[in-house]
Amino acid sequence: MSPFVPYGRQSIDEQDIMAVAAALRHDLITTGPAVRDFERAFADFVGAAEAVAVSNGTAALHLAVLAAEIGPGDEVIVAALTFAASANCVLYAGADVVFADVSGDTLTVDPANVAALVSPRTRAIIAVDYAGLPCDLGELLAIADAHDLVLIEDAAHAPGARYGERTVGAIAHMTTFSFHPVKHLTTGEGGMVTTQDPRLAEAVRRLRNHGLDSDPKEREERGTWAYDMVDLGFNYRLPDINCALGRSQLAKLPAWLERRQELAGRYLEALSEQPWLRVQARPEDRVHAWHLFPIWLVGDQAGQRRRAAFDGLREHGIGVNVHYLPVYLLTYYRRLGYLPGLCPVAEAAYEGLLSLPMWPGLADADQDRVIHLILEGAWATDG
Ligand SMILES: *Cc1c(COP(=O)(O)O)cnc(C)c1O
Repeated sequence: MSPFVPYGRQSIDEQDIMAVAAALRHDLITTGPAVRDFERAFADFVGAAEAVAVSNGTAALHLAVLAAEIGPGDEVIVAALTFAASANCVLYAGADVVFADVSGDTLTVDPANVAALVSPRTRAIIAVDYAGLPCDLGELLAIADAHDLVLIEDAAHAPGARYGERTVGAIAHMTTFSFHPVKHLTTGEGGMVTTQDPRLAEAVRRLRNHGLDSDPKEREERGTWAYDMVDLGFNYRLPDINCALGRSQLAKLPAWLERRQELAGRYLEALSEQPWLRVQARPEDRVHAWHLFPIWLVGDQAGQRRRAAFDGLREHGIGVNVHYLPVYLLTYYRRLGYLPGLCPVAEAAYEGLLSLPMWPGLADADQDRVIHLILEGAWATDG
């Protein structure tokens, strides 16, 4: 029996371990120099003016929503096909989520649907770079500009992705990232908000540290003990230990992105002409970061065939997964009154979706096994 092949996993080497060990020997193991180093390196990597490290990707979304000054009575339009955190952050702020459907070819949010959902209460859009494919940033920014909305891009799947000439992280008003072990680079747990706007970065910095107007280093430099709390913030800081790991991981990201491209190319060559499944469209103006490699079964009984494919691949030790049930179909959201049928394209895609193994350490031979099992599986035929 071959070893289990997960759909994603972290890559940690001796360099990473040494970077963490060095951080542990430092006087400051949180709020120290490794935080600024990681933030600076990440901002440079995406080409953004500012990057603020926080404790996880969910905290990044929460603080982006708060920095946009969203609160009770406001509406935020959120892509339906995503992880719950992309929408939960709106509820944390006491605002209402309006779910937008995705385009049937890219599975990123459909700008026409977003435009149709804008109301006098709309304050922001949270778009998701599903699987690593940048959402339609040009059109979404045009809608945001026309209605004075804040565009928050949830790029948990997409560090290193590109839209036109620019890298994701320097395009939307605020972009959020996650460093969970299953994502492109990891800090154990961690996240980042990037922006070109120093005022937004300042707000996120303040809110990650209780809403205080200074940090201990600034107070020491000014020779004062006094601080003031000007907002109701949180402790969403990312320790130096984690930032040291992030900085070390970031150095390897370009090579990892190349490997992900290579693996995606091999999947596409084998699977893109199969009439019973679909792969994501890849618009020419975008570079996909391939966090996931999603396929979705189409045709009669797609849901049952997907179930059989999931079980069949799992029996062979292939850790396929499903990303995602549209958020509003989760019990908590149903209780808030959202009904099935709200986003028909996302719901139809969900029925057939499967995420295939995709991570830089995946061996060609294991990927070949996945491809072989899919092509030889009985899931192509109806019934
Ligand atoms: C992983 C993820 C998040 C949350 O990130 P955490 O670091 O786990 O809090 C948010 N949105 C999307 C799309 C994600 O995949």
